[in-house]
Amino acid sequence: MSVLPIVKYPDPRLKKLSRPVEGDPASLRELVRDMFDTMYDAPGVGLAAPQVGLNLRIFVVDVSSHEEGPGPMVFINPELVQGEGRILWEEGCLSVPDMMVQVPRMERVVMEGTDLEGRRFRVEATGLLAIALQHELDHLDGKLIIDRVSPLKRELYRKKRARESARMAG
Ligand code: ZN
Repeated sequence: MSVLPIVKYPDPRLKKLSRPVEGDPASLRELVRDMFDTMYDAPGVGLAAPQVGLNLRIFVVDVSSHEEGPGPMVFINPELVQGEGRILWEEGCLSVPDMMVQVPRMERVVMEGTDLEGRRFRVEATGLLAIALQHELDHLDGKLIIDRVSPLKRELYRKKRARESARMAG
């Protein structure tokens, strides 16, 4: 089991557009296992590769601790193929500690991805899973929940985080 360090805001790797995975996805098996270990350890219901410092289009999700669902899933090169409805959801993020943000999301989504065997699959989701899929896809496009708050609130948060990391270093 390897728990990887989670990259925190304002690390620039969180703002980058991640690139698609090419070649045999089986080579990602170890990384994906580490991402699951890291997510469960945190604990969280989703984790995207940029959150462990890799700008690749991969994320893992598992909402089964909160609602009935398919359990652990890995999405390589995910694509949102359908979405409908609007819902406001209060979200947190492992890379933006101690902040909750109300985020407008689609209520139902259909997302496609490739699994570790290289097979393309499709998942239809509502509830927390639909939210998690949209949240993780945002990470691959360099979007964070903190981008959705006012500049003033963001600035206050940035100062608070800087104070905390200075305290940890000191
Ligand atoms: Zn997040």
